Amino acid sequence: MQPITHLLASWTVAGIPRLEGRDRAIITLAGISADIDGLGIVVELATEHTQQPLLWYSKYHHVIGHNLTFAIAIFLTALAIAKRRLLTAVLAFFVFHLHLFCDLIGSRGPDGYQWPIPYFYPFLQNIELSWSGQWALNAWPNIVLTFILIMITFYLAWKKGFSPLEIISKKVNRVFVDTFRQRFGKPQS
Ligand SMILES: [Zn+2]
Repeated sequence: MQPITHLLASWTVAGIPRLEGRDRAIITLAGISADIDGLGIVVELATEHTQQPLLWYSKYHHVIGHNLTFAIAIFLTALAIAKRRLLTAVLAFFVFHLHLFCDLIGSRGPDGYQWPIPYFYPFLQNIELSWSGQWALNAWPNIVLTFILIMITFYLAWKKGFSPLEIISKKVNRVFVDTFRQRFGKPQS
């Protein structure tokens, strides 16, 4: 699925328990971190028409970041840097797998490619996960899901006073939250 859907899904999970902003940020970033292996697209596009094109996107997207080894690294990192260590690490591990699950069910490319996930990479590299019923990246379930997640994000902003914007700037988040509260009134706490 699109990074924005992964971001909103992990944000929603992070918003459920009582966590501090830093732990919410860790969980949210854990939920999109797998797609770091998609950054190779920059190199691939840049070298596309050269003598030695580097196929970093085609070769490594859904490989380097989409596996159990990466998930364990995320878990241990969260455990080391979070405030509520265990809860944050468990939720980070969970949203990481939610990301893989969402990719499995709805990321078919326009060319029909399914982007199978080598879950045990870099070990047992011949075991790949894929699902024959996978729908396309731009299919309606993804659009509906993204819409629902946006609504939940708005609700959390209004009710609890935080939004993904706080990861970038507390001030911008404040403005965002205040806009909702001016429009819909203050939530009863
Ligand atoms: Zn992904």
